Amino acid sequence: MITYGHFIGGKRVAGTSGRTAEVFQPMDGSVRGTVALASKAELAAAVANAKAAQPAWAATNPQRRARVLMKFLELAAKANDELADILAREHGKTVADAKGDIQRGIEVIEYCIGAPQMMKGEYTEGAGPGIDIYSMRQPLGVVAGITPFNFPAMIPLWKAGPAIAAGNAFILKPSERDPGVPMRLAELFLEAGLPAGIFNVVNGDKESVDAILDHPDIKAIGFVGSTPIAEYIYGRGCSNGKRVQCFGGAKNHMVIMPDADMDQAVDALIGAGYGSAGERCMAISVAVPVGQKTADELVRRLIPRVESLKIGPSTDSSADFGPVVTKAALERIKGYVDLGVQEGAKLKVDGRGFSMQGYENGFYMGGCLFDEVTPDMRIYKEEIFGPVLSVVRAKDYEEGLRLCNDHEYGNGVAIFTRDGDAARDFAAKVEVGMVGVNVPIPVPLAYYTFGGWKRSSFGDLNQHGPDAFRFYTKTKTVTSRWPSGIKDGASFVIPTMG
Ligand code: NAD
Repeated sequence: MITYGHFIGGKRVAGTSGRTAEVFQPMDGSVRGTVALASKAELAAAVANAKAAQPAWAATNPQRRARVLMKFLELAAKANDELADILAREHGKTVADAKGDIQRGIEVIEYCIGAPQMMKGEYTEGAGPGIDIYSMRQPLGVVAGITPFNFPAMIPLWKAGPAIAAGNAFILKPSERDPGVPMRLAELFLEAGLPAGIFNVVNGDKESVDAILDHPDIKAIGFVGSTPIAEYIYGRGCSNGKRVQCFGGAKNHMVIMPDADMDQAVDALIGAGYGSAGERCMAISVAVPVGQKTADELVRRLIPRVESLKIGPSTDSSADFGPVVTKAALERIKGYVDLGVQEGAKLKVDGRGFSMQGYENGFYMGGCLFDEVTPDMRIYKEEIFGPVLSVVRAKDYEEGLRLCNDHEYGNGVAIFTRDGDAARDFAAKVEVGMVGVNVPIPVPLAYYTFGGWKRSSFGDLNQHGPDAFRFYTKTKTVTSRWPSGIKDGASFVIPTMG
């Protein structure tokens, strides 16, 4: 049994609150260990530690800070198998998929090595007589990230990389479901030369999150998770005067035009709908075939593919996907499938009865496919976050586009077509933050930014890319006048350079 405490001030420390949660191994349903749930006082101790360490880190020149990240990359590459193993065991995704999770986080750290460039300000010489203006970017101080269970390597690194590269001290409150990888990342950062107190992991639940939201020394919070919690964190964090960005849930549509390459579209739906058991904020959960003929052909081709999905334990390298994260998640997803049947959707493939031989206590579920789902159904409106794909038939392109735009979520979307006009029109008009054209999971690369629209995100600025440096820094603008000998008397009008 593993006992996770916290990582504060450069070392693993035991929890003192007396409260813990179980950490499961979804592939066999066993309890892998426990994780401490921090109290307000433990969070405050971590913040005090971070606050003391931050000025020296901010004063370290950005090139030296970047070198620590370079060393981290080297160590993370050596620890890749170990990290992927922990990740797969605690989350349930396959080892191959866990490696992708780690890789997408690593790519953001690679981008952050450009911190000296990102931290540069601007300069205008001779903005007026003897007057120069320049701006500088400065870190905020102590900042925090609160992250979900479904990408326990990638999302903590998306948050921590830019924050620490910019000279902040960082408090990570990862998901209590899979804290193992974040704890290992903390050790790797330390080994890479990051000073103690700059990257801290405070494990916990709502109590520690509330302590973060209310702590006056935490200047910014980046959150990723479900929409109700995103909205709560945004409201409470902002009313406490913090800079807050929150990324929430999703219901990503894929529009399949009559001229689409159907082989490609079916492959894309199978991978993007069922990969990681559908537990991705960029998973495709709604297929929108345009026209009766397209819909009939799509469903006909999807059925055997969904029926033959290979589900297996996370350590099985031939599995398409593994178990879901907890028993509660499994029950919630099955409940949605029951609901869909009651609502009148046509359940073409039913994965509810799936049991994994030899792993009967694992949290497994087979792929499910619904046809004839309509926009009034709860299985359409709400995020299921499991291996369940809904087909919503659209009579024409306009109706397909309208479905995407009318949905309350706007994280990712895709269109499959060979028609450049349709693709271009769709990209311009769809009210969704990340758009794929013949690409089912359009997660932007690290040097672009990641973020949804509508109720998939709250606050300004996106994650990673240039926005992340803007989020974790503040700008100061200096107007200076030299030489000092100029004497032009007191002026009572607003200064202009006119
Ligand atoms: P979650 O909202 O349950 O938890 C996210 C974080 O909030 C965790 O650290 C958790 O401990 C904390 N938390 C949970 N309940 C809380 C409460 N009542 N008060 C304060 N804090 C609380 O999300 P999850 O189940 O871990 O992750 C899945 C969700 O995350 C899905 O909705 C998915 O779409 C979303 N997600 C979004 C993105 C994105 O970038 N938009 C990326 C990944 C996941």
